[in-house]
Amino acid sequence: MNRQARLDRLTQTPDVTVLIIGGGINGIATFRDLALQGIDVLLVDRADFCSGASAASSHMAHGGIRYLENGEFRLVREAVEERNRLITNAPHYVSPLPTVIPIFRRLSGLLNAPLKFLGVLDRPAERGAAIIKLGLLMYDAYTGTERTVPRHEFLSRRAALRRYPQLNPAIVGAAEYYDGLIRAPERLCMELIADAEAASPTAHALNYVSVVGAANGQVRLRDEVSGETWDVRPQVVINAAGPWIDLTNFALGKPTRLIGGTKGSHLVLDHGELRQAIGEHEFFFENQDGRIVLICPLAERVLVGTSDIRIDNPDEAICTDDEIEYFLGMIARVFPSIHVDRSQIVFTFSGVRPLPAADAKSTGQISRDHSIEVIEPAGDTSFPILNLVGGKWTTFRAFAEQTADQALVRLGRSRQTSTATVAIGGGKAYPRTPQARAQWLAQQATQTNLAARWVEILFARYGTLAAAIMADIATQRLEHADQPLQHQADYLRGEVAYLAYTEKVIHLDDFILRRSSLAMLGMVTLPLLEELATIIGATCGWSAVERQAELEQTQKRLTERHGVRL
Ligand SMILES: Cc1cc2nc3c(=O)[nH]c(=O)nc-3n(C[C@H](O)[C@H](O)[C@H](O)COP(=O)(O)OP(=O)(O)OC[C@H]3O[C@@H](n4cnc5c(N)ncnc54)[C@H](O)[C@@H]3O)c2cc1C
Repeated sequence: MNRQARLDRLTQTPDVTVLIIGGGINGIATFRDLALQGIDVLLVDRADFCSGASAASSHMAHGGIRYLENGEFRLVREAVEERNRLITNAPHYVSPLPTVIPIFRRLSGLLNAPLKFLGVLDRPAERGAAIIKLGLLMYDAYTGTERTVPRHEFLSRRAALRRYPQLNPAIVGAAEYYDGLIRAPERLCMELIADAEAASPTAHALNYVSVVGAANGQVRLRDEVSGETWDVRPQVVINAAGPWIDLTNFALGKPTRLIGGTKGSHLVLDHGELRQAIGEHEFFFENQDGRIVLICPLAERVLVGTSDIRIDNPDEAICTDDEIEYFLGMIARVFPSIHVDRSQIVFTFSGVRPLPAADAKSTGQISRDHSIEVIEPAGDTSFPILNLVGGKWTTFRAFAEQTADQALVRLGRSRQTSTATVAIGGGKAYPRTPQARAQWLAQQATQTNLAARWVEILFARYGTLAAAIMADIATQRLEHADQPLQHQADYLRGEVAYLAYTEKVIHLDDFILRRSSLAMLGMVTLPLLEELATIIGATCGWSAVERQAELEQTQKRLTERHGVRL
């Protein structure tokens, strides 16, 4: 069903059982869960899906060892379990990530941890070897017997420098453990939506639709493309607007103060020497005041983050000059012999963590756990509002399950199925062994006219979803669908058209920022942008004027939000 058909249906039948406001990972995961239970559910986002906090993550599927220090044992256990499930259910986008902690002190933090745990110490501090060891032992214990990822290992100074020769020789040692890398979080979101809509004819997800008000048991929606408004009558509302939760409740006439967001930024670097020095490892460490920094491989690039700064207006989050200087200084601390400067930055991004409002003295101490805060029906509001506060990318499935369970209780319905072992998108029927992979690739190659190289590229990029893309290319809906882009030889014309057609692309930047990683990996040039605008414009029916407006708007966004000038 295309966007217009969904809109027509909703304007004709305004009764929806559950309305979810916000298409970040938490809203989307709840949408999928409820769709799988057969609930009639509508998901709306005022912008594109996965364009808020969910687009700003450090790409980690992780338990978060450092949360142990804050006493958040429940969260770490849940996050480690969910990390393992993600690696199993979405193997095309989430993989085990060997992580190295360079250690500069032996004992620091040993006293801080129990003091922080008892709430006596507010000051963050760098952790030493002993406290890291303790954390990693607990982390391994939570990983359980399934061993989705290997156990941690401690390296002496000499062994660490032998393995990573460009590490700062001032280290006293290093620890190595495993977490998960979410290579393409935005794509994971789109595939969860597609799975939900495929599972249920009464599940509808609409991007560029805002919640703008409520009255008499109805919620007012506005189509941000046409400007039209209409009302829906939900039985339950789930406010998954992330850092905008309070603003959304205000629009619903229910003012709250649930969120106390902190901003985090990242850089993406095109730096061959640094990329080679880290190999396929994330380097995860703390500065002297205990703030976390990570340097991580992302395809051929290097991802560096993140900051943790209180912010009031989530719409104002951008990566500042000060943050860039801070990150460059941190890289120099860990790899002092590698020169990095601003000319190697190909993309920056920033977002706001929807953390609970808290009085903690340091941002690092604000709980990263999630909760569901309920506003009961009152006055002319006949529906409860379940607010999804906090939460990590990693724990989206568990958070969604808890939310869906609460919604089901309120609807007097029961759970039909669990999402714990449900594969996501191109992770379905995923060939897991080298033999199975070779067989899958060979079989697909015989069913398509594409060269074997393309079958491999598309599988590496989309997992088994590649089969649907290749089948669509074979129909030649788009002229020369099986030809590479003129300005990006690694992508096919038909691949772009397929994603634009099936994945709710409304604007050009939806494609370059979220359906693909082209912008984040610094691969967008002006000629490429123009080529993409022509293919996507043909699919979306843009006039020449609209195409030009899309090009201008996208360049403006790239410059203002991501520090990219074409
Ligand atoms: C810098 C940073 C790094 C992080 N790193 C990690 C990490 O490595 N690993 C990890 O597990 N977690 C990480 N997180 C946490 C994780 O990304 C977030 O907790 C998670 O993405 C929150 O998702 P959400 O769906 O609740 O909110 P969001 O993704 O912000 O979604 C909310 C959506 O609501 C929409 N919306 C707002 N108002 C309205 C309205 N009125 N009508 C309709 N729609 C509306 C917005 O457009 C937005 O898309 C990080 C977060 C940040 C900011």
